[in-house]
Amino acid sequence: MPVVASRRPSAPQAATPGTGSVVLVGGGPGDPGLLTVAGLEAVRGADVVVTDRLAPLSVLDQAPPHAEVVDVAKIPRGSFTPQERINELLVEHARAGRRVVRLKGGDPFVFGRGGEEWQACAEAGIPVEVVPGVSSALAGPALAGVPLTHRTLTQGFTVVSGHLPPHAAGSTLDWGALARSGTTLVVLMGIATLPAITEELVAQGMPATTPALTVTDAGLPAQRSVSGTVVDIAAIGEAAGVRAPAVTVIGAVAALAQQLPAPVGRPRRPPGGSSAAG
Ligand code: SAH
Repeated sequence: MPVVASRRPSAPQAATPGTGSVVLVGGGPGDPGLLTVAGLEAVRGADVVVTDRLAPLSVLDQAPPHAEVVDVAKIPRGSFTPQERINELLVEHARAGRRVVRLKGGDPFVFGRGGEEWQACAEAGIPVEVVPGVSSALAGPALAGVPLTHRTLTQGFTVVSGHLPPHAAGSTLDWGALARSGTTLVVLMGIATLPAITEELVAQGMPATTPALTVTDAGLPAQRSVSGTVVDIAAIGEAAGVRAPAVTVIGAVAALAQQLPAPVGRPRRPPGGSSAAG
């Protein structure tokens, strides 16, 4: 795969005709305050911003007035744009000499298909940079009051996709190894499959008393979380009407959310405004 010289836009590059560029920007979990300074700089220097559903859309106000915003969650021809078309769009706009910002939720390289976009652009000879983002895998638990590691409780964490349930065709995860890993388990895209996942974890030896928590809309005004154990978290979430986007964290650290006051001082304002406490 071609190697990219610069991974981070220290300053927006001037677009000369025919030589545009693409910046893959991780937008964080939804709170505009959790977009990085480098990500904000990239948005402010964009000619085109290609966004989707989980990106922090309020930061689009920060794009220059001439910037075109392409929401790939809304393009006609269906409820979502196929990844191949998104790749083509990035290449087409960059070939037209534009500075293209691909604004994504969380981190572009954590279940964000940023790797595919990087490859497609690199194969087309387009300069690509990446601005890492605050992944919901880390921010979701943190904003719900769960430290993913804790010196006295666990020495690591494992992040997995729950998109495919255990034993599904195409699943490559070893749920037995995960059940016995002794690390905090963080499940993304796992609301529909949570009953099957938690049942498998217990069947594979995870203690039934293991604490669990699901946080939904982390970093957004609608954020809420439900707590239980690995045995009942799926049912508790379902009864509470928990919907995607949600992150489930399973492990001893999940109990700390009930013991500690929720973290305060989350930024709630768009960049440039003063941050609100609470
Ligand atoms: N690249 C993203 C993940 C994209 S996959 C990242 O690093 O965060 C989409 C999944 O991310 C959702 O199904 C959900 O599990 C999780 N997610 C994204 N935003 C979230 C949020 N604000 N609150 C809770 N979960 C979120």
